[in-house]
Amino acid sequence: MRPLGLYIHFPYCGRRCPYCDFAVSVVEAIPHRAYADAVLAELRMRLRGGAWSERAVASVYLGGGTPSLWAPAELGRVLDGIAAALPVAGDAEITVEVNPGAAESASLPELFAAGANRVSFGTQSFDPRHLHALGRRHTAEESASAVGRARAAGFENVSIDLIYGVPGQTVEDAARDVACAAATGADHVSAYSLTLHPGVPMEKDARAGRIRLPDEDAADAIETAVVAGLQAAGYPRYEISNYAPTDRRAVHNGGYWVGREYLALGASSHGFRLVSGPAAAEPAAASGGLRYHNLSSAERYLATMAEGADPTAKSEHLGADTLLQERLFLGLRLTDGVDLSALAAWCGIDPADRYGAVLAGLEAEGLVCREGLRVHPTERGLRFADSVAQRFF
Ligand code: SF4
Repeated sequence: MRPLGLYIHFPYCGRRCPYCDFAVSVVEAIPHRAYADAVLAELRMRLRGGAWSERAVASVYLGGGTPSLWAPAELGRVLDGIAAALPVAGDAEITVEVNPGAAESASLPELFAAGANRVSFGTQSFDPRHLHALGRRHTAEESASAVGRARAAGFENVSIDLIYGVPGQTVEDAARDVACAAATGADHVSAYSLTLHPGVPMEKDARAGRIRLPDEDAADAIETAVVAGLQAAGYPRYEISNYAPTDRRAVHNGGYWVGREYLALGASSHGFRLVSGPAAAEPAAASGGLRYHNLSSAERYLATMAEGADPTAKSEHLGADTLLQERLFLGLRLTDGVDLSALAAWCGIDPADRYGAVLAGLEAEGLVCREGLRVHPTERGLRFADSVAQRFF
């Protein structure tokens, strides 16, 4: 059976953070039960006809939004529904994103009892000034104590997110955040540079001069400190924004970078599957793939599922060429890089035929290097990952 990732999107948040451009819904009363019913109905709908058969669930990821706001009994009902409908590997990674605030993470023991075995905390910072700038509701103390609370609830696999490049942040501040992250004993750290899409409140404030983001030199120095600090603290970088020892790398997110299929449920989620399975001697991607995007509005999603209709807003067929292109630029986000011969066997196209000149150019510029048939990014290639990706278009 092929490994499958399963993503469930929970679109509700207590309030909107000023840097967020996700499709989130802030409502007086979260429809806990109705949303679980809708997700389970979508699961039944997607599995009808056997399109996802011959797969075993290797990972489940509950993201958002703020899935830790979901009543644990309802979240557990969804996990039970998945286990009843699909084969789930005994060692499947089952992650829930949780806000580190003591109140919002009070359900950690119930989440563990419901079947989750990994927590990803939206910690973002350990500095009260930067938590305030990011509009987060939890305190620095709660950032520091969250991993311990997760351990006490039974979780042996805990990840924390950091955001750097926050207004007013210095290199020393960033280094302190990294040291605090390491001191929690988390198993995995994701560190993202603050990105402000046009129109979000913080972007408007920055444009109007009400807040000052680090300039380009300061942002570079902060990023360098974060990367070096995490590695020195025992978190090797394995992807542009992700750091962990090999046995703690994220299974679910790792699937996105290596072309694993993922079934997605819930408002605003998007899924991907190969159109035909790999029959003997047939490359997995020979017939291409299918990606679907669900309705982004939580209200419309709920109404659509209540009518028994299909929540797909858009779907697209991806030819083997597109799959190859995606595998290359996503694979070059990983320090392990891409095995070109395995990729040729997977999609039925030799990457050297299509992208030989691009790869040679990237190598000449010191952005990638080759070891046999494997090509992987250099440190410079990771730093300029967006420009590397653009070369494949
Ligand atoms: S908690 Fe996450 S998803 Fe919700 S508003 Fe804040 S950044 Fe966006």
